[in-house]
Amino acid sequence: MEYRIPFLSMKEGTHPYHFEVGDDFFSAREASLIKAAHLDVDVAFDKRDDHHFELTFHLKGHYHVPCDRCLDEFDLPVEGRFVLRVERKDAPPSDDEDLLYLPLYAHEVDISEYIYQYAHMLMPFRKVCAMGDKACDPEMEKLIAKYSSQSHPHLIKSDSHGTSETQDLESTEG
Ligand SMILES: [Zn+2]
Repeated sequence: MEYRIPFLSMKEGTHPYHFEVGDDFFSAREASLIKAAHLDVDVAFDKRDDHHFELTFHLKGHYHVPCDRCLDEFDLPVEGRFVLRVERKDAPPSDDEDLLYLPLYAHEVDISEYIYQYAHMLMPFRKVCAMGDKACDPEMEKLIAKYSSQSHPHLIKSDSHGTSETQDLESTEG
């Protein structure tokens, strides 16, 4: 599947695009930390002029991952919004990850690498299946509670040193 947006004949203004990515998209990349997933990707392509574009990505879907606590596989809902500025000019690669320089001969933007990066930015540090009305596996919870000396099992990730840690990723919502 192609993830390219041609812009030469595009009128100035904002144009909506829709893409979907699934297992194949991620399994084609060996380093991917995401294996099974479905994401709807909406891209608002704002052509400011012939050389300046702004792409707003909205990713929404789920990753099929094992729970950190009970190891049950579950669908982790993910959603996030990212903005990429694109400038057409012959220049060395931009240091700013939110800014892409496209060579002047280019006639389309390939957004697949950005979808891939943004998808990984949505992967939380902690993946726990107990969300909404779904409870983490009760037998495993009992075992974890038994071997945990702390009083807040829902926030604890035990490791081999017996320490605990919590981490909240900063929201990527704009
Ligand atoms: Zn679980």
